[in-house]
Amino acid sequence: MAEYIPMTMGGTDVSTSGAFDVVDPATGLPFGTAPECTPDQLDQAMHSAQDAYRTWRKDESRRREIMLAGADSVLAATDSIAPLLTQEQGKPLAEAQMEVRAVALWLRYFANLEVADEIIQDDEKVFIRVERRPLGVVAAITPWNFPLSLAAWKIAPALRAGNTMVLKPSPYTPLATLRLGQVLAPVLPPGVLNVVSGSDPLGASMTAHPVPRKISFTGSVGTGKHVAAAAAPDLKRITLELGGNDPAILLDDIDLQAVAEKLFWSAFRNNGQVCSAVKRVYAPESKYDEVVEALAAVARTARVGAGNDPASQLGPLNNRPQRDRVAGLVSDAVGRGAEAVTGGAAIDGPGFFYQPTILRGATDGMAVVDEEQFGPVLPVLSYRSVEDAVERANGTNFGLSGSVWGADADRAEAVADELDCGTAWVNTHLALRPDQPFGGVKWSGIGVENGHWGLSSFTETKVLHRSRR
Ligand code: NAD
Repeated sequence: MAEYIPMTMGGTDVSTSGAFDVVDPATGLPFGTAPECTPDQLDQAMHSAQDAYRTWRKDESRRREIMLAGADSVLAATDSIAPLLTQEQGKPLAEAQMEVRAVALWLRYFANLEVADEIIQDDEKVFIRVERRPLGVVAAITPWNFPLSLAAWKIAPALRAGNTMVLKPSPYTPLATLRLGQVLAPVLPPGVLNVVSGSDPLGASMTAHPVPRKISFTGSVGTGKHVAAAAAPDLKRITLELGGNDPAILLDDIDLQAVAEKLFWSAFRNNGQVCSAVKRVYAPESKYDEVVEALAAVARTARVGAGNDPASQLGPLNNRPQRDRVAGLVSDAVGRGAEAVTGGAAIDGPGFFYQPTILRGATDGMAVVDEEQFGPVLPVLSYRSVEDAVERANGTNFGLSGSVWGADADRAEAVADELDCGTAWVNTHLALRPDQPFGGVKWSGIGVENGHWGLSSFTETKVLHRSRR
C-alpha cells in the first residue's frame, strides 16, 4: 500500500486533495505520496503557529519539559520514522536510525541548555538587564540529504527560545518529516510545530508570507539567495545554511595507512550528499600517487546497495537529477584529462546508484573541483607548497568547512588557521555536535546553527534599563 502521511497543523492531521509522488531512489519508482499544501492551508498553518506563540513564549520551564517528553516520543517512534527516511532518501537504515536519534539528542540538548539573562549593572544608580526574547513564528525549510537532523537543528533551538514554527521538508523527502510532525503532535501544544509539504513554490510562499518573523533555511546557494531577497522587503531575520565545497589539505607527514579510511568516509558519508563533506583533496606532489591509491583502495571495498539491505554502506543518490549531475561532472573531468581510478559510472539496474569514484589528475578549473558535486565522487589535486594549497582551498565563493591532516597536529592546526571557513577541522572532518556552532562564511551561509550561538539566532535582544536615582 502506498504511503501517505498528512500534514500537521494546529496539532491535527490535515490532508488535501492534491498530492505528489515520492520516489524510492533505490528502485526509481514512486512508493508514496505527500500532500500538496494549498495557499489557504499555508495560511492556516501560519495562523496556528501565530496563535500558539501567545502562550508558548511565556513559560520557559514548561517548554523544557515538553521538549524532553518530545525527545522520548521521537525515540519510541524510531521504527516508524527511520524506514520511511531510508525509503525516501536512500541512506542505509542504520544511518536513518542514527538520524532519528539525533533529533532526540538535539531536543534534549536545547531543553537542558541554560540561557541566563545578563546583568550589566545592578547598584544604587542603575539596573540593566539584557535578555533574549523569541521572535515569533519561524518558517523553516530543509533539503533532502538529512531531512530529520537538519529539521531538528531548527526545531529544538527555535522552540526552546519560545518561537513556534511552520516547517517544510524537501519535496524529495517529505514523509519522514511529516511523520515526525505526527509523532510530536500529541506532546506539543497545538500549533507550536506545524509541518507542511509541497513542491518548491511552497517554500517561496512561506518566505513571502507576512506571518513569519524569521526564515531558517538549509539548502543550495542559489535558493538561499532567493530566500534572502524574499526576506528583505519585510526585514525578516534569516539564517542560511548553504552549500559547501570543503577542501581537505593533506600535509607531507601524513600517515596514510592510519587515516585513509577516515578521510574516505569524510567525503563519502551519506554518499557524498553532505553539505560539509570533503569535496576536494589537496595532496602533496611527493605523496600524490600514494594518496590516490589509498583512497581508491577504500573506495573499492565500499558496499553500494539499497538502504534496507543491512550490508549496504552507501545507498543510491537521492534523485535522478542529482545522479545525472554527478555523472556529468565525472564525464566532464575525464574529458579534460582526469582519470577515474575506481568507479566512474552509474551502476546498471533500477535506482539512482553510482560507483564510488576517485579522480586522479583533477585540477582547479574543472567543474567537479570548482562546484559542489554532492555525490560519491572525490577529485584529488596535487600541490607543491602548503601556501599554494591554502590559496587554492580558499579560492572559491564557498566557505563552509575544511580540514588539514598531518602527523604533526600543531603544524596542521597552524594551516587550519589559514582556512577561510566556518569550521576548520584537524585530522578529522564532519565532527558535528549540538553544542558546537556550525555555519558558513562567504556564499556558504549567513549565521550559525547549534550551541548557544544557534539558539541566539532565534531570539532578539531586549534591554531593561531602570534608573535608581
Ligand atoms: P534546494 O535549495 O534545492 O532546496 C532546499 C529547500 O528549499 C527545499 O525544501 C526546497 O523545496 C526549498 N525551496 C526551493 N525553492 C525555494 C524558494 N524559492 N524559496 C524557498 N524555498 C525553496 O537544496 P537541495 O537540493 O534540497 O539540497 C542540497 C543543497 O543543500 C546542497 O547545496 C547542500 O550543500 C545544501 N546543504 C547545506 C547544509 C548546511 O548546513 N550548510 C546542510 C545540508 C545541505
